[in-house]
Amino acid sequence: MHSRYDARPALQDARPYHAAVMLPAALKAPQIHPELAAKARHSVQWLRDAVRDHVKVVYSSSLGPEAVVLTDLIWTEVPGIDILTLDTGRLPQETLELLARQEAFYGRRVRVVVPAAADVEKYVAAHGINGFYHSVEERQYCCHVRKVLPFRRAIQGYAAWVTGVRREQSVNRAQGAVIDKDQYGLAKISPLLDWTEAEVWTWILAKGLPYNVLHDRHYASIGCAPCTRAILPGQDQRAGRWWWETDDTRECGLHPGEPAR
Ligand code: SF4
Repeated sequence: MHSRYDARPALQDARPYHAAVMLPAALKAPQIHPELAAKARHSVQWLRDAVRDHVKVVYSSSLGPEAVVLTDLIWTEVPGIDILTLDTGRLPQETLELLARQEAFYGRRVRVVVPAAADVEKYVAAHGINGFYHSVEERQYCCHVRKVLPFRRAIQGYAAWVTGVRREQSVNRAQGAVIDKDQYGLAKISPLLDWTEAEVWTWILAKGLPYNVLHDRHYASIGCAPCTRAILPGQDQRAGRWWWETDDTRECGLHPGEPAR
């Protein structure tokens, strides 16, 4: 029986996570087939249209697989879109290493946004350094302080932001639109909406893009270190996030009503 403090799953799958989402032949020799190349062209067009229509466009990278693809499309095709990422102060070292590898790969710098020190100090003083394990409310407050508030601050001045959401990820997202409005009134563009998870990984592997090495240890969705663990074969992609909570509470507030990615 695992406690909420135990970030190791009962049995860790030795295969990379993407081995479970790709066909064996595609995994062995990943190739960008014409249908995927067409999807990528459409995604780039959505991004170009966003810049044409909104001028000030930002992408908040989660550094997950979808973020690897979007960073590639943006920095190679639509470099006018700004890219930022949230460093909550509790990210795994492997995630920060991915950031450094991406910057070396493209020769560009990602804007790193951090939470306000006073907000974090207040949270830790009231709830403890690992207060997020105590209750759903304390966990959501930590996400609010370390993710939601810095994100809101960071997107001020932008007219539109890009997300990596895909239809496959949830029932809500299945009914989403590529262009939408978020809860702050900003345009929200989701150019990967119709990509499958296998296509995301095909793009990454076929192009040899840097990705988080935790995926090689069967981590699926990766967030902060103390709140993320590898999943078991056959488990839902989100099973490794806030594993001690029930499904209906497991979101971080950046996409209200939906699971965090
Ligand atoms: Fe805090 Fe965990 Fe949320 Fe990160 S994922 S902000 S550590 S509760």
